[in-house]
Amino acid sequence: MEKVCINGGNILTCDRGGAVVRLDASIFVEDDKITHVGEPTGEYRTSRADIIIDAKGSAVIPGLINLHTHSGPMAVRGLAEDLPLTPWLETYVNPAHKYLTADDAHADYMLSYLEMLKAGITNSLDMYRFVEEGIKVANEIGIRTNLAPYCADLPQYDYFEDPDENIRLADKYSSGAGNASVWLGFEHTTYCTEETLAKFGEFAKKKAVHIHTHESETKDFVENVRIRFKKGPIDVLKEHGLLGPRTVLAHCVWLTDQEIRMVSSAGTSISHNPTSNAKLASGIAPVARMIQAGINVGLGSDGVKENNRMDLFQEMKTASVLQRLLTNDASVLRAEEVFRMATLNGNRALGMAANTGIIAEGFKADMVLIGLKKPHLTPIFGGNRDNILAAIVYAVEGEDVDTVMVDGKVVLKDRKPVQVNEEEVMDLVRKKSVDLLDRMGLKAGHDRALG
Ligand SMILES: [Zn+2]
Repeated sequence: MEKVCINGGNILTCDRGGAVVRLDASIFVEDDKITHVGEPTGEYRTSRADIIIDAKGSAVIPGLINLHTHSGPMAVRGLAEDLPLTPWLETYVNPAHKYLTADDAHADYMLSYLEMLKAGITNSLDMYRFVEEGIKVANEIGIRTNLAPYCADLPQYDYFEDPDENIRLADKYSSGAGNASVWLGFEHTTYCTEETLAKFGEFAKKKAVHIHTHESETKDFVENVRIRFKKGPIDVLKEHGLLGPRTVLAHCVWLTDQEIRMVSSAGTSISHNPTSNAKLASGIAPVARMIQAGINVGLGSDGVKENNRMDLFQEMKTASVLQRLLTNDASVLRAEEVFRMATLNGNRALGMAANTGIIAEGFKADMVLIGLKKPHLTPIFGGNRDNILAAIVYAVEGEDVDTVMVDGKVVLKDRKPVQVNEEEVMDLVRKKSVDLLDRMGLKAGHDRALG
């Protein structure tokens, strides 16, 4: 059994529910698990390790969890700009989905998982298409993923994924396919027939399968639900058996107080996506109220078509500052709370908190090393003036991540992916994006990045 020692880091263990910092400690990893955290002595002395990773001058944190994203279509990154949600969907996003092929999706998954890995994200909840391509890519790159396809079956949206196929895939892969698993996923209740919503609810209950969807993202969407179902969106989910502890709802910007109570008592988790909600002018979700009501809230980047980047460090800072603007209170969403959203709460929402998300003995070795010796992270103090957590939440960015370990394997080293070639991935996505835009009738012209 190979022993890895991460030596001399500033470790944010996240145990006992907080972001506990252990200065200058070491972490032993054997196979996929953490076997020791603390002094590098005795059985765990550095000299007994097969591989030593020098973490001096670095912070070591649990892998970040991107609780809501879309791996593509990458082709519309930076093209679909400056529109509110509904015309943005109709002009760019839905036409891209109409022409998307499994090969396009494969390329998108490659770039998306590479981008996330390089930003210290070790697991995500990814609503996209052709999910078997996502399973292949996650295992190739060495990142974890939970795939919830964009399902829809109302006639105007029937180019999205087929709900029956989703049920088949969730049945096959819900308990895992290597690093990946498949959930039930649907774009929105207004994209599906009531028969499908009921079928999903029954299947999820029978097989204890997880569910993911968008909810109450904009006022328009809430209004559309009220027009179609003659009741509020959370009531619709509840009525169809889609609200429960294995459900994760993205956004929830416009929940009423009563709906917040319903989500809380159902044990349903919420993914907060602050940058996406701000950029599309959807609103600021009442996260402080949700947390106060006992809801487990994690953080998501949403896709690059919404947000251009998948960087949870940006999301942590944005979540905190927006909530302070919303509440006029500089003490809401403190660094520790936001950090927990991006780690522990995300793992809890994915049903993985029993063995991941904490740097402690017996837990899965999913960890991220961040180099701290940089002008924008200076000075870093220890002891009573410890400011590492504030640096991580308010000053670090994805580009500061040096090394990522998933399931005990180093999959990003010195900012380079270990198992795939980064240049090849970018070349593939450039080519596929030009092809997809051509098919959509949006001539991309010469791809300047190709030279
Ligand atoms: Zn989304």
